Amino acid sequence: MSSATGGLKELHQVHLDLEACHKQLESGPRRIAACERTAARKQAEIAAQKALITDLQKNADQKNLQFRTNEQHIEDLRTKLNQANSNKEFDIFKKQIEADTQANSGLEDAYLELLELVDAAKARLQELEVELTEIDVSVKNIKDEFKALEPKVKIQAAKLDVELRAAEKCIPQKMTEMYRRLIIAHGASSLAPLDAGACSECFVELSPQNIVEVRSAQIVICKSCGRLLYSADSE
Ligand SMILES: [Zn+2]
Repeated sequence: MSSATGGLKELHQVHLDLEACHKQLESGPRRIAACERTAARKQAEIAAQKALITDLQKNADQKNLQFRTNEQHIEDLRTKLNQANSNKEFDIFKKQIEADTQANSGLEDAYLELLELVDAAKARLQELEVELTEIDVSVKNIKDEFKALEPKVKIQAAKLDVELRAAEKCIPQKMTEMYRRLIIAHGASSLAPLDAGACSECFVELSPQNIVEVRSAQIVICKSCGRLLYSADSE
C-alpha cells in the first residue's frame, strides 16, 4: 500500500484525535455554564419561595390580630350582657355574641389554614435549599474536574497540532487549497475510509475504477460528498 493512502489514514486519525481534544476543551465550560444556569434558576425559586412565606405569614398575622381583636370585642359584649338592664337588651347582646362567635370561628379556621400553608412552604424551602446545595456541589466538581483536565488536553492538542502539520505533507501541493476548504467545512470528517467499496461518509458506492484508484494510493474525492477517500486497510 502506498504511503499517500497510508498518510491519509494517519492524517484522518490525527484530525479525529484533535477534534476529540477540542470537544473536551469546549464541553467543560459548556457544562459549567449549564450547571450555573441551573443554580441561578434554583436561587430564583428560593427567593420566590421566601417571598411566598413572607406573604402567607403576613396574612396569617393579620387574621390572628383580627381574631384576637374580635375575641376582645366578644368579651366586652359578655360584660355588657351581664350588666343588661332588660330582657330585650339581654337578647340583643346574646344574639350579637352568637353571631360574632360564629364569624370569629371562621376567622380562626382561616388563620390555622394559613399556618399550615406557612409550614408546607417552609418545608418546600428546605427542599429547595438542599437541591441548591447539591447543584453547587456538582458545579464545583465539574469545575475541579475541568481544571485538572484542561492543561493535559491542551498539551495533547499542541502535540497533535505538530503531528498534523507533519501528516498533512501527504496532501499534494495542488490539492492543498481544496483540502483547507474541506477541513473548514467538515473538520475531521473531511476524510473518509472506503467501506466495502462505498464512501463511509455518505454511503454512496464508488465506481470500480475509483475503488482501484483508492486502493492504489491515488487521492480520490467522493463524487457524492466531496470527502477525501482512503483505503481503510492501508498500512
Ligand atoms: Zn461520500
